[in-house]
Amino acid sequence: KEEAYQCIGCGAYIQTDHPELPGYTPQSAYEKGLTKGEFYCQRCFRLRHYNEIQNFDVSEYFFLEQLDKIGQDEEAFVFHLVDIFDLEGSLLTGLNRFTGNKPFILVANKIDLLPKSVKLGRIQSWLTQRFHALDLYPQDVILLSAKKGASLDQLIEVIQDKIQNHNIYTVGVTNVGKSSVINHVLKDLGEADNLITTSAMPGTTLEFIELPLTEDHALIDTPGIIRSQQITHYLDREGIKVVLPDKMIKPRSFQLDSGQTIFFAGLGRLDFERGDKTSFTFYVSNNLLLHRTKTEKADQLLADHQGQLLSPPQAKDQLPAFKTYHIQLQANQDLAIAGLGWVTVNQAVSLSLQLPQGVTYAVRPAMI
Ligand code: GDP
Repeated sequence: KEEAYQCIGCGAYIQTDHPELPGYTPQSAYEKGLTKGEFYCQRCFRLRHYNEIQNFDVSEYFFLEQLDKIGQDEEAFVFHLVDIFDLEGSLLTGLNRFTGNKPFILVANKIDLLPKSVKLGRIQSWLTQRFHALDLYPQDVILLSAKKGASLDQLIEVIQDKIQNHNIYTVGVTNVGKSSVINHVLKDLGEADNLITTSAMPGTTLEFIELPLTEDHALIDTPGIIRSQQITHYLDREGIKVVLPDKMIKPRSFQLDSGQTIFFAGLGRLDFERGDKTSFTFYVSNNLLLHRTKTEKADQLLADHQGQLLSPPQAKDQLPAFKTYHIQLQANQDLAIAGLGWVTVNQAVSLSLQLPQGVTYAVRPAMI
């Protein structure tokens, strides 16, 4: 029924009936557009105010399949964003396979969360080794804090350098801070207005957001990838606020005897099965309850208190059933739980870890 007006942002035909389809604009905005004689679809209108871009979250498999677009771009250069607090949960091991081995740099965000005592040089080589072990060879490793501004200048410099000859693609899972990083870049390198165009992947709703930074090259933001391995995937907004640290992590230590259990609120539990008295140090959000109990009482405690004293989760039935893993942890190793943080011990121990089915963990050389 409408005239065939096109969105001046993305070129889609303007329509007012289907919010989920390209070109949608609310009726009121449509009428304003008629008087002005120009139309933005709702999405492009929001893109002009980049803060409002909500992640186009997509499942990992679906996303990775689309990355061959990057593989086909002769001039592609990739910024792989990871979360230093959740390296295993946020790194994309399949990246090279799907992008055809394009050159990339590793941007490890949220460095402000690490305790002050941490030496950044050590973290950098630790990260590099972790990546090499996965056969991933970043050209550079940038330790960043989008929140505190640390190393943003360095990042901007790299962008200014690479953009001369490359299109830069930013990839990362949800919550690594990709929007925060891009916001900074936009502030530094240009106004959001008129800078953003979107390009839909043919045949999908998946969109890459292009920010043309020079005549010939663009910074291209790809959708956030949902990771079902991360505990945050199973939580509501309130739960996520507890689990995602917002401040520098204060490590919490417990002297534990075998037969004792620590609950990560109601999200999982760690049973100390065998070993001498040991110091366990937890690096998790300061807001997350770590509750110590006797292992023999733990089942009952969980049954009685999950969703209440042991919260998050907000309710008992919010999580998949727990699954048990038996783990040998050596001194100077971390046990990292995707999205939750990590724990380290000062001598070898036998542990049993219970996590909601689907949430993953990794044993790794100690970061700190
Ligand atoms: P995206 O999903 O990757 O786009 O991530 P967002 O930019 O929306 O950030 C996800 C969460 O991480 C938000 O709560 C941010 O405030 C937080 N965040 C982003 N960057 C940093 C950082 O450098 N340090 C800390 N501590 N938090 C950050």
